[in-house]
Amino acid sequence: MKDLNSLLPILQCPQCQDGKLSVEDDSRELLCAVCATRYPVTYGRPVLLRPDNVVFCLEDYRLASQHSPEVSVVGIARFIPNPSVNLASDHVLARVRNLLAERPSVTVLVVGGGRQRQWLDERLGAGDTVRVVYSDIDVGADVDLFCDGHDLPFVPSAFDAVITTAVLEHVLYPERVAGEIYRVLKVGGLLYSELPFMQQVHEGAYDFTRYTLSGHRRLFNGFTEIESGMVAGPSTALVWAIENFVLAFISRAILRKAAKAVVRICFSWVKYFDYFLVNRPEAMDGASCTYLLGCKIEGHIPDAEIIARYVGAKHLRHT
Ligand SMILES: [Zn+2]
Repeated sequence: MKDLNSLLPILQCPQCQDGKLSVEDDSRELLCAVCATRYPVTYGRPVLLRPDNVVFCLEDYRLASQHSPEVSVVGIARFIPNPSVNLASDHVLARVRNLLAERPSVTVLVVGGGRQRQWLDERLGAGDTVRVVYSDIDVGADVDLFCDGHDLPFVPSAFDAVITTAVLEHVLYPERVAGEIYRVLKVGGLLYSELPFMQQVHEGAYDFTRYTLSGHRRLFNGFTEIESGMVAGPSTALVWAIENFVLAFISRAILRKAAKAVVRICFSWVKYFDYFLVNRPEAMDGASCTYLLGCKIEGHIPDAEIIARYVGAKHLRHT
């Protein structure tokens, strides 16, 4: 979206969770009308972090360049295959786009936008009737604003859809972030979430949680399910496992890089078994990553229904 003035009507102070924000100091700051907290704006992107947060440093954002250069894959790295498949995002995002097309004009929030802007804009048909707001905490991300998912700086019911892919495993309190996503969505608004299950630690210290598909449903129990399933299955999980098994023996960075490349070249073909397993309920218990497409309701789905929806190893169900 990249337009501060068009963002203002949906913004709300994350510190007092009440005040509207106004542009101050020649667009270099936003000011809360209630608690008078000031937020910096860097290259037109507000940094809406609570001043009392202890995890992120406001100064990092003030010093940030417009955006970090793209990390291009060069040399032999181009020939090293990806260890995972994505069996969901293209067809589910096409469905999101079709569902949103039934509404006259919509605003979509991406929580953890990273560098997905062009890719997602194309899939969602971003334009005059579909506005997409990109947010992230990563100082190098291509976003419209920086914010913490624990304190989304938006008024309630601001959005028609929220998209969050492989983000909530990296937050300290996923239930709180899920609650914020619920708050900023309209009733009837759409949620598309991807969460890893059988995947080893990535992003180092910023990796906290994994979810089964049932856990994924419970996390977003304020949503009726439109569809759910596998983003990547046990075959992808196996490739990750082989890679991490080998890396467990190696400390030196250069050797780890080399080992990773060798494992991927030798074993990444295994991931294609996921195309065969994608619709097998038995494979869900070992999925690498799951997705959930839901619609916000008032209230929540009963726990018994979440348990009843389980479709994995049926013989283990307690009845
Ligand atoms: Zn305030």
